[in-house]
Amino acid sequence: MSELNPSRTIEELKELRRLTADANGAQRVAFTAVWAKARSWLEGKARELGAEIERDEAGNLWMTLRGESEKELLIGGHIDSVPNGGWLDGSLNTLAGLEILRRIKAESDGKPLVTVRLVDWADEEGARFGRSLFGSSACSGNLDLEEARALRDKDSISLPAALKEQGIDFARVKDSGRQLARAAAYIELHIEQGPVLLDLDLPLGAVLGTFGVERHGITFHGQGAHSGSTPMNRRKDAFLGAAKMSPQIYRIAERNGGVCTIGSCLTKPGIVTSVVEECRITLDQRHLDADALARMLEEAREASERFGKEGNVTVQWERIWQIEPMPFHDVLIDFCDESIRETCGKSHRLPSGPLHDAAEVARAGIPTVMMFVQSLHGISHNKIEDTKEEHIEFAVTAFDRLAEKVMHWIAAR
Ligand SMILES: [Zn+2]
Repeated sequence: MSELNPSRTIEELKELRRLTADANGAQRVAFTAVWAKARSWLEGKARELGAEIERDEAGNLWMTLRGESEKELLIGGHIDSVPNGGWLDGSLNTLAGLEILRRIKAESDGKPLVTVRLVDWADEEGARFGRSLFGSSACSGNLDLEEARALRDKDSISLPAALKEQGIDFARVKDSGRQLARAAAYIELHIEQGPVLLDLDLPLGAVLGTFGVERHGITFHGQGAHSGSTPMNRRKDAFLGAAKMSPQIYRIAERNGGVCTIGSCLTKPGIVTSVVEECRITLDQRHLDADALARMLEEAREASERFGKEGNVTVQWERIWQIEPMPFHDVLIDFCDESIRETCGKSHRLPSGPLHDAAEVARAGIPTVMMFVQSLHGISHNKIEDTKEEHIEFAVTAFDRLAEKVMHWIAAR
């Protein structure tokens, strides 16, 4: 694999940063002028290496090397960023994919074993309209058109209007699904955006899948009463039950191995001289295993009712949002693990807390896996997002090995 040049990926990441970041970080918000500039820069590079270029109905950019087989290996990334974003989230995947395309093209004399396609998904971040994974969910068929049609940015511009400015017809975005017709596998590299690999002191990890999410509002109803005249034993304190939930979710997460977060707590009337009449908290629970996620939800519900009874208040649940866990493909996870071990000795398997385009592709039934590279500080969606250059080079090399293994796997099927 002498043609692969991982240090070129680092140079290109820096070139992209010079082109599209300011003092506050990356500014490649999807469907804006800076994003379009990043896109044409990427397109130019892909054209240079001899890839066919196509933009689909949802604005996803496809860069294809036709192979001996029509069956396709897809490599995914997203060049869009959040405002004030980092230099690696999304663009590392994309530019590593570009380098792999170059390597394959050079090595196969222009005709790889199977067709290889790099896709730059449109609007992975959802930074402008609040809806993540736009391009990949349109393509996978999971995008809710009615919901998406109503989305507006902070200047009240609707998503369909913003798309039109980019030459995209909202009514046809789901036609992009045809792109997956010959997809045999999908791989994606990403920075971890969390501290797990950092804490283990490992450069790379194989991703088992993306967490399922249960997101609920929990409201405790008690009775407002004077804080001076109401004895403690006579209170119906809505905050008491809600507060007991806080240590409880740590036990639930520990027992079941997922994560739970109470991200918001609102009290009414919310004044210093009144017992709390109503307290609403939000609970976000995530797990890779659907049964365990259901158990975490059930345990939280049961605890809330018990605390309600103990405090003589009622409790009411409402679902805010929910998504199923999306486990990745066993064989591809093994390949990913192997590629990592061959590159830097030791691997680790871990779930992904954040959602990624890969989850959408997996949801469409295509064998999928992701590889994570360590994040320094465990931080992303911030200009301080960083990864050691040595680790970036490992990532490009291991990801290339993964691509090679998956191509042979596809060809043999
Ligand atoms: Zn990303």
